[in-house]
Amino acid sequence: MGPRDGHRPGLTGADLLVAGGGPAGWSAARACARQGLDVVLVDPRPDRTWRHTYGAWCHELPAGPDPLPPGVVAAHDVGWAIATHAHRLDDEYAILDTPGLQRALHHDGVRVHRGRVVAAGRGRAVLADGTELAADVVADATGAVQALSTGARGGRRAEQTALGVVVDAATAARVTDGRLLFMDWRPLHGLPGWPTFLYAVPLGDGRVLLEETSLARRPGLPLPELAERLRRRLRAAGLRDAEVPLDDPGRVEHVRFPVDTPSHRSPDGVVALGAAAPLVHPASGFSVARSLRVATRLADAVVARSDDRAGVDAASRATRARRAARSRSARVVHGMRRRGLDVLLRLPAGEVPEFFDRFFSLPAPHRRAYLGSDGSDEDVAEAMRAMLCVFARLNPRLRGHLVAGTLCGPGEAQRP
Ligand SMILES: Cc1cc2nc3c(=O)[nH]c(=O)nc-3n(C[C@H](O)[C@H](O)[C@H](O)COP(=O)(O)OP(=O)(O)OC[C@H]3O[C@@H](n4cnc5c(N)ncnc54)[C@H](O)[C@@H]3O)c2cc1C
Repeated sequence: MGPRDGHRPGLTGADLLVAGGGPAGWSAARACARQGLDVVLVDPRPDRTWRHTYGAWCHELPAGPDPLPPGVVAAHDVGWAIATHAHRLDDEYAILDTPGLQRALHHDGVRVHRGRVVAAGRGRAVLADGTELAADVVADATGAVQALSTGARGGRRAEQTALGVVVDAATAARVTDGRLLFMDWRPLHGLPGWPTFLYAVPLGDGRVLLEETSLARRPGLPLPELAERLRRRLRAAGLRDAEVPLDDPGRVEHVRFPVDTPSHRSPDGVVALGAAAPLVHPASGFSVARSLRVATRLADAVVARSDDRAGVDAASRATRARRAARSRSARVVHGMRRRGLDVLLRLPAGEVPEFFDRFFSLPAPHRRAYLGSDGSDEDVAEAMRAMLCVFARLNPRLRGHLVAGTLCGPGEAQRP
């Protein structure tokens, strides 16, 4: 099997089989197909339209030889964070046009197969209907379900939950003063309990998403509670209920996904991508920008292996792909950020805004290194420097929580 052989009919052996047709699966499939590789993508609903609102810092998006087409960024602006003080972050934050992203990642050369992958091993994948497909490398891009991981499942995950509503820009400006709010921790909803923040981002075309967000909680904060907080927050800003179409399903976004998905235990020949890997940033829950960037590297690794036919077996091909997708240092940095999540999960509710105030007052390079961009996802020393810098800025009480979270993990589930 090799690149540039032309596409073979039917579902015979491919260079790469991708299980999962979300952003991670299609990024990888497209990058490999562009290199001339034979790629099969399997998804139970391959024609599903993506609907989530995807955002990322502009510096995280792929640049270089394979940038996103310009129209895929629907809107961008300087990000603000408000905790106990307001911080202008001097970094542009982008909101993607999700259907545009889906179109941009489509590649006609990818052979799409409707089905559910239930097992995979060296050189093959098995679908729920018993079909067996051969491929040099199998990628698990099935998201948080990690369909091909052999690791233990179960256990209650920490989840990000959010509830958003789309309003026009003039209405939103009465809440945001026209700013893109990455996080506004002010408890303007007036309700007690686990702190949540407002995420307010332009969608383009004069529309703005206002989303009440619980960054991470085990279990995730219920969506009805987030809806009530959002309603009260917007009322406090002077919006009438009639201006907030929370009963219009077309203008409401529901968010719920795990942020502490365990490391993927990949069988021989399988590489995990996207939320399945997990490439999810434990502090933001984001993975889309990273999946877009990783795809090119993955394609280079698979192409190199496919070109080199002398004595290279499928297992070493998959190993190279695995390293390209998630290097050892990337795993170390991820582990450190997971410690950061543990700290957040055990913070007393009243301390959370102060913690983020300290975080957002970090010098921009440290803040970027922690939130993630291309280099920093693999730079252990920089991640360590950023964490030490956070520590240095905390008051003694917060330092105590940070040490406890780092040494003892997340502790008990938060009580409502
Ligand atoms: C409303 C919402 C907003 C979000 N906003 C952001 C954001 O702004 N930025 C960000 O980075 N992240 C965001 N996230 C998180 C986001 O879900 C993930 O980052 C992203 O979707 C992960 O992409 P993925 O391709 O890894 O997995 P998914 O998008 O979960 O795709 C997995 C695919 O695998 C398929 N599949 C599942 N099981 C199988 C199987 N056995 N065989 C074959 N296929 C299978 C599924 O049908 C699906 O198509 C958001 C999530 C939600 C719910």
